[in-house]
Amino acid sequence: MQIITTKSDLQKVVEKCKSEGLSIGLVPTMGALHAGHASLVQRSVKENDKTFVSVFVNPTQFNNKEDLAKYPRNIERDAELLQSIGADFVFAPTPEEMYSQDEMDTTFQFDFGGLDKVMEGKMRPGHFNGVVQVVSRLFYLVQPNKGYFGEKDFQQLAIIHFMVERSELAGTFGDLQIIDCPIVREESGLALSSRNERLSASEKQIALGISKTLFASLKWAKNENSTVAEVQQKVIDTINAIDGLEVEYYEIVDQSTLLPTNTFKHAIGCVTVYCGPVRLIDNIKYN
Ligand code: AMP
Repeated sequence: MQIITTKSDLQKVVEKCKSEGLSIGLVPTMGALHAGHASLVQRSVKENDKTFVSVFVNPTQFNNKEDLAKYPRNIERDAELLQSIGADFVFAPTPEEMYSQDEMDTTFQFDFGGLDKVMEGKMRPGHFNGVVQVVSRLFYLVQPNKGYFGEKDFQQLAIIHFMVERSELAGTFGDLQIIDCPIVREESGLALSSRNERLSASEKQIALGISKTLFASLKWAKNENSTVAEVQQKVIDTINAIDGLEVEYYEIVDQSTLLPTNTFKHAIGCVTVYCGPVRLIDNIKYN
């Protein structure tokens, strides 16, 4: 496995792969890797000749400076994990290598057909502009045949699909296919997240209340008398009743439009919860 830190070295390697007719899988990450990331990488290794993993804490997608500063980083451990599961190339640039000063300072603006106006987009202004800024740059540089993304960040995945299929960038990335990968959870149900590293043992125990409530809501939704609005409120009340958890939002929305829905058909519930100072997200599909 080779670790690459500059765009020019990356492009040389990509050109070599392309000239040999090799297929490329790309897994964009922000590092502090866990089994959730590993599942994406393993799938890419299975489905492509070469797998590139980017490890880059992208400053332009953080609207909260403290969150950016506290984001866990451990490139040595990440490289060990990636080597052990068969990744071929790790791209780990500095922010200065990735962006010019202008690109760092100027807010990138993009039309996502409204997908960025709800939930995470509403709570973290500019977040998805930053995500698309970095992901589109990685697509240009790596020219992957397949890009792997987790359903843990369901809204992000919807926006990446939109960017590749319907935005002004559609068609720019050749025959790139976006591969949706399911959420990997601890046995306890807690969705794996790099931010879990910031939780103490007791906070981790408390955070279990999030997934437990989401799973319980599948049963509540099956009760013929319960409406979407009632289940939504019950999830919020149940999580908020747990000492140490505070819901920022829980919205049951249509899986395609991300707009509020009054039916459980094709619906997904997306939640953001503060566990102490740590902001955790999770989601559950109703069918
Ligand atoms: P991040 O490093 O948090 O930006 O995540 C990089 C990629 O890994 C994204 O596509 C995430 O959706 C995905 N991912 C993160 N956590 C999980 C998880 N628990 N299960 C599956 N995919 C995940």
